[in-house]
Amino acid sequence: MPKSSTRPALPCQTDVLISGAGPTGLTLAVSLRQLGVDHVLLDRHDAVRPGSKAAAVQPRTLEYLDRIGVGAGLAEAGRKGRGFCLHDGERALLRASYDGLDTPYPYILLASQQTTEEHLVRRLEVLGGTVYGDHRLLGFTPDFPGVTATVAGPDGVLRAVTARYLVGCDGLHSTVRTAAGVAFPGEAPEQLFALADVRLKAGPEAAAHEDTTFFLSEAGLLLLSPLAQGLHRLVAPVPAGSAAPRAEDVEELLARRGPADGWARAEEVVAASTYRTQERVAERFRSGPVFLAGDAAHTHSPAGGQGMNTGIQDAGNLAWKLHAVLTGAAPDGLLDSYHTERWPVAARLISLTGQFARAATLSDPSSGRLRNALLAAAAATPGVTDRLARSLAQLDIGYSNEPDLGTPRPGTRVPPLDVPPDGLRWTLAVPGSGATQHSDPGKRLGPLTVRHIPEPATTLLVRPDGYLAAAGVPADPYDTAARIGQYLPQPQ
Ligand SMILES: Cc1cc2nc3c(=O)[nH]c(=O)nc-3n(C[C@H](O)[C@H](O)[C@H](O)COP(=O)(O)OP(=O)(O)OC[C@H]3O[C@@H](n4cnc5c(N)ncnc54)[C@H](O)[C@@H]3O)c2cc1C
Repeated sequence: MPKSSTRPALPCQTDVLISGAGPTGLTLAVSLRQLGVDHVLLDRHDAVRPGSKAAAVQPRTLEYLDRIGVGAGLAEAGRKGRGFCLHDGERALLRASYDGLDTPYPYILLASQQTTEEHLVRRLEVLGGTVYGDHRLLGFTPDFPGVTATVAGPDGVLRAVTARYLVGCDGLHSTVRTAAGVAFPGEAPEQLFALADVRLKAGPEAAAHEDTTFFLSEAGLLLLSPLAQGLHRLVAPVPAGSAAPRAEDVEELLARRGPADGWARAEEVVAASTYRTQERVAERFRSGPVFLAGDAAHTHSPAGGQGMNTGIQDAGNLAWKLHAVLTGAAPDGLLDSYHTERWPVAARLISLTGQFARAATLSDPSSGRLRNALLAAAAATPGVTDRLARSLAQLDIGYSNEPDLGTPRPGTRVPPLDVPPDGLRWTLAVPGSGATQHSDPGKRLGPLTVRHIPEPATTLLVRPDGYLAAAGVPADPYDTAARIGQYLPQPQ
């Protein structure tokens, strides 16, 4: 699918220049378009690239995509996984089920990254936006108060684009990050992984396995996850120098490291590759008028299906703040809170996925047996699997530093089942009788959508990205709207 079917001439001036139209850049562009913010989105490629890459879309991501008109359609296009399972080949050690999560999307959506990107491109076009495909950002120079970027177009001609803000959504090898001089510290572990998208031999057992399962046997790690279109993804650490797995390699991996009862047998390998991971977080997510988001800002092991999800939520955090600043509703300092809020999320994620990857790839059998015994014991501890499911679903991400005393804390997620969203508008949830259905449009007053809902003991003000701005605010929407500046996150 072309990144855009129409291609007007590249503007030479814009409020926000977004380099990179992967899932992060596309989400940012759709959000800005919906908010009416002038922007230009460019990508060095002309079309969405084929391939499944990020195949797991987490509930928190779907909640944000719902706000920008993509969640429901994408959910229809994918397969709904039930949860994550850690298994020793013979028995489940620990199972984190998504079934009871407090979200309209209580499942892992298994859809190829291509499908996710195509849905975002379509939504962008419906909103009248476009991707300037075949345009490569070469660098930029400061041009107070913003930047002037140099872009090579499809005709090879270099063009200058002046922008108030530049957002690097240009992936792991980000040109924006390099040109901004932002360090990208971390590690590149030596371990090589084989990846294969396979069609399994049909059978009732294969159909019954809806979990993304990590098999942790003495023969080594094997990840097996359902994908859309009746496929399964297989990932396994392999010796350095290994080639992309062929059908016989996949059969052997399944036989040696997969389920002991042999239900998983490959019929066809649809795609295969090898990859290495890196574990890095950019030192800063903001440098003056320049921001980094998605893989340009952080990268880690894809096991656990978190990377694309984190990028999409970076975009959700940044979009409404850019809108608030560019419309004069907030000072430029609000944008510092993008780093303050999102950097710790990325750093924690990289630390957790790194620890998990190391534990899952232990080569010493006795350490592996001890790990499995500890996992089984953890699974039997009340609350552990629920907490794990919430964490993998990214529903526990929040920006509050205050201890949880059971009262609403600014910076925590407000479940959309409690306070239904209204696109990217602020929501004022006033205690009273009323509906909590998504279909209830609420009452729009200035920047706020007002909802009367039965649950909260106090009036809640919810940010456009679904986090609590403040509790106990005036129930009079005009009063709250006039004070909104007081409720914005403060950079620390
Ligand atoms: C095998 C594999 C499996 C994965 N599985 C999962 C998963 O299940 N769940 C998950 O959440 N994540 C997963 N990930 C990670 C996920 O693919 C990435 O996190 C995601 O692609 C990041 O999106 P992005 O938009 O930030 O960057 P990218 O997808 O890398 O997009 C960057 C874009 O920038 C463009 N670009 C680069 N340089 C320039 C330039 N100079 N000028 C203009 N354009 C430029 C590129 O063409 C590209 O379109 C997986 C990754 C791999 C490799």
